[in-house]
Amino acid sequence: MTDCPCGSGGAHDECCGPIIAGAPAPTAEALMRSRYSAFVTGELDHVEHTHASYMRDDYNRSQAQSVAAEAKWMGLEIRQTTGGGPDDETGTVEFVARFKRGQELTVHHELSNFCREDGNWMYVDGEMSPRPATVHVDKVGRNEPCPCGSGKKYKKCCAA
Ligand SMILES: [Zn+2]
Ligand SMILES: [Zn+2]
Repeated sequence: MTDCPCGSGGAHDECCGPIIAGAPAPTAEALMRSRYSAFVTGELDHVEHTHASYMRDDYNRSQAQSVAAEAKWMGLEIRQTTGGGPDDETGTVEFVARFKRGQELTVHHELSNFCREDGNWMYVDGEMSPRPATVHVDKVGRNEPCPCGSGKKYKKCCAA
């Protein structure tokens, strides 16, 4: 059993794996986690299929593919959720996803909107807050605070 890439602490087979394989996500947060994990594992069909149908024109498959292929994923942190539960029709998830491309570290901080479509949670759109921050990490000392804002030393965080 492997740890789920979404960082839940659960096994991938019991966390995001089944949702990526097509099981309905119980909550908007679970869907968000599974979309992150699908980026990590390169299962972009899941990312595409969980985009609300009326927003799917917005989804840029080739862009998603190049991000997934080049990025080294450093972790997902769920900051806050509203709604998105079993009795809700809409919900939001605020998250931070960190990834590296070469010496560039991107801290993607987004407030995402989710809605139900035929009973299933779907990603609608998101607002960056702030704008995605890309930091060149080649000049960051290993003992300096990590530029991702985690509060840890760089060597203990995104240098891995
Ligand atoms: Zn997971
Ligand atoms: Zn970091």
